[in-house]
Amino acid sequence: MKAGNSVLSGYGTTIFEVMSRLAETHKAVNLGQGFPDGNGPEDVVEVAGRYLTEGWNQYPSMMGLPALREAVAAHAKRFYGLDVDWRTEVMVTSGATEALAACLFGLLEPGDEVVLFQPLYDSYVPIIRRAGAVPRFVTLKPPGWTFTAADLEAAFGPRTKLVLMNTPQNPAAKVWTRDELAMLADACLAYDALAVCDEVYEHLVFDGRPHVPLMTLPGMRERTLRIGSAGKTFSLTGWKVGYVTGAAALLQPVAKAHQFLTFTTPPNLQAAVAYGLSKEDGYFTGLAAEMQAKRDRLTAGLTAAGLSVLPAEGTYFVTVDLRASGIAETDADFCKRITAEAGVAAIPVSAFYENDAPDHLIRFCVCKKDETLDAGVARLKAYFGR
Ligand code: PMP
Ligand code: GLN
Repeated sequence: MKAGNSVLSGYGTTIFEVMSRLAETHKAVNLGQGFPDGNGPEDVVEVAGRYLTEGWNQYPSMMGLPALREAVAAHAKRFYGLDVDWRTEVMVTSGATEALAACLFGLLEPGDEVVLFQPLYDSYVPIIRRAGAVPRFVTLKPPGWTFTAADLEAAFGPRTKLVLMNTPQNPAAKVWTRDELAMLADACLAYDALAVCDEVYEHLVFDGRPHVPLMTLPGMRERTLRIGSAGKTFSLTGWKVGYVTGAAALLQPVAKAHQFLTFTTPPNLQAAVAYGLSKEDGYFTGLAAEMQAKRDRLTAGLTAAGLSVLPAEGTYFVTVDLRASGIAETDADFCKRITAEAGVAAIPVSAFYENDAPDHLIRFCVCKKDETLDAGVARLKAYFGR
């Protein structure tokens, strides 16, 4: 038998799938993979259901339902003051994962370099390598997870085609500051680099911090693609509805990839997300407040169980420092052990690094019902004798 593609064959099964299946095997409380255990806002789900029976269930336009593209453009204006032409500057994708793949396949040539910040979401690097491009890493370290202009200087070069960044950042739970964004924008302008911004957690920002899209910084509007996800914004991760916003000239090559990857996305889900994005401001602030309360609840619980929790500024996640908790085991071993023995699953943070990975950090997911968070904490406390 001939072998599969050598780049992709080199990767194991993604850590999210591995830990979720292990959690099932051990009937563990799954605080690993990032998905809520509720069923999303009832009204949004209702629109999707109604559209299934009353709407049009054939291929929608390749760029997405006009109603959703209009809603994405209106959302960009409402939250970030961005003027976006929904006809030429918005494309709907099957989740942010497909949006990322379409951006990378659509823009990269073999030999191009891509600047990335690790820890990073696990789909980025395999797709970059599969496109024949070369990743160049800036490694962020806890607890600040920040970088300097010199770090950027070391990563950018004449072959840099684009930078792929993520704020709020999974798994670090870091929200990039305006100063950090300005430093990155300066580097993009100096090296004539494009930017692909994974902003799936844009509405999950805590403690009154703003979410600032890189696209809003001077000089960046024409060179940035911004990716959002209905999965995160409406707590419906299985829907896989994403959206890419960017200048028409930049979006066109991305659409060329999208048309051959998935071409389109289920119309009833698009219609429901269009409805959802038009909800009043209170929905979005309520989502952030709810998640912030869950962050606080899980942080308090993990602390009471004897674990040392790092600050979390946004996203679905909190990080625990095993060394600071007096645990010498590696992150991967510890996650397997607590899944099997304590009945609580978490994700080893080393899975988010390509090199120089720390092995003493683990990630817990906070976006669960309070009773699920409490059950996980109770099991950890019992296991650690607290
Ligand atoms: N980017 C980041 C940083 C993520 O955490 C996720 C996770 N779900 C995605 C992209 C993928 O989003 P989607 O489910 O919309 O494909
Ligand atoms: N983004 C989710 C996480 O970080 C997982 C998405 C996936 O399983 N592919 O947990």
